Amino acid sequence: MNAPLETLINQLEQVKRTGKGRYIACCPAHGDKHPSLAIRETDDGVVLLHCFAGCDIASVIGALGMDLSDLYPKNTALNSKQEKRPFNASHLLILAAWESLLASIIACDISKGKLKDKDRLLVAAGRLQEIAEVANVN
Ligand SMILES: [Zn+2]
Repeated sequence: MNAPLETLINQLEQVKRTGKGRYIACCPAHGDKHPSLAIRETDDGVVLLHCFAGCDIASVIGALGMDLSDLYPKNTALNSKQEKRPFNASHLLILAAWESLLASIIACDISKGKLKDKDRLLVAAGRLQEIAEVANVN
């Protein structure tokens, strides 16, 4: 069976490796001509995705006929019958760090007079709220 990263990468276009376990590709969920989908594989084989155009993860993997569990190796918690928690604390922290970085980049752009990403800043704020809620449930 293929690893989640390999399964995903094989279905994406204009895939470029940007570092260890890091790639960028065209997002399948919107009319992406220049790669805006960042892909990261964690040390335990979980695939994290982020579309810089603002597509949510469900839309991105849904466009490929995949679902959230396909981003996890088959032997991880999400895919075992005993454990149904979709994210552990380290994944939540990685997501929070990513959204925070993105928010800071957008804030810098806005301070330079580029206002086009204001809506994405609100998405980042919303995602940070969701992360906090999920962390609270866990
Ligand atoms: Zn997208």
